[in-house]
Amino acid sequence: MATNNENKNILMPRKYFKVANGIWGMKILFVNIYMIRTSPDEWVLVDAGLPKSAGRIIKMAEALFGVNKPPKAIVLTHGHFDHTGALQELLKTWDVPVYAHRLELPYLTGKSSYPPADPTVGGGLMSYTSFMFPMTPIDITRNVVELDEHMDNRLPFMPGWRFVPTPGHAPGHISLFDEKHHVLIAGDAFVTTKIESAISVARQTKVVSGPPKFLTYDWDASKNSVQKLLMLEPKVAATGHGMPIQGAKLTRQLKHLVDAFEQESVPAFGRYVPEPARANAQGVQYVPGLPFGIKAVAALVTITAAAAAFVLIKKRRQSLLDRALGLVF
Ligand SMILES: [Zn+2]
Ligand SMILES: [Zn+2]
Repeated sequence: MATNNENKNILMPRKYFKVANGIWGMKILFVNIYMIRTSPDEWVLVDAGLPKSAGRIIKMAEALFGVNKPPKAIVLTHGHFDHTGALQELLKTWDVPVYAHRLELPYLTGKSSYPPADPTVGGGLMSYTSFMFPMTPIDITRNVVELDEHMDNRLPFMPGWRFVPTPGHAPGHISLFDEKHHVLIAGDAFVTTKIESAISVARQTKVVSGPPKFLTYDWDASKNSVQKLLMLEPKVAATGHGMPIQGAKLTRQLKHLVDAFEQESVPAFGRYVPEPARANAQGVQYVPGLPFGIKAVAALVTITAAAAAFVLIKKRRQSLLDRALGLVF
């Protein structure tokens, strides 16, 4: 017999998408959040979207689970601004624990900023504008709880699910895996659209791709992470950006991602390509300097802009002077 929730699912608005039984997603501009039913009466939220999206997230929860039905917990794949944007607002309505990996806590408790974004990796508008992304920490000390790695990485309130540490894109990045149904929520360990390009994101071009290049600070760790995820043999993968991918297509594309990682996912050029940033439980400890080529381009742009400003100011001053002299003579 169909349960209430399943009936509701039939009437689900198109703006929500189904990942697998009991798992739904919503795309907020360019990033996804997920809701997972963990028992007939309970559910968990994975990630918290962009700022100002709390209302939309609560509406979705009401459509799926009913009014005044807060999640048992919120689990964060990582703390980047596009995965935690609505979190503080949501916690005002839902005062629930927020689970995150130990190495992600500095960015959730106001202790450390993330390594800076790298807009030099190329690939499209999202990359080029990434220098404007907020990389400073939020502070949810009151709600955040460290995930326990001594319990076989089991996820609280989520029977049958485990978390898999998948660092490289963020120091304490995790993926979530349902061992029985082989459903993977991969966060940004890999994604299913070319996130660097705003056009690809808008078109929802579906292809298994490496982690967003402009925010990935350790490429070796990233490769190990996608290898780890391939070995889990997921049947469905839902990621932080792009639509879910299933079956043979997922297996084929994920294998290709691992096999061609250096050629296709690691950028040819970028701040974190020669060496990674380093972070520990206290936060970021070391950030490599900008490569010489990037420094030279940045210096050239600065000199050109300064020269242009100087000429403009001089011209303006000259015309003011001309006008003043015109008044006198
Ligand atoms: Zn991210
Ligand atoms: Zn993301």
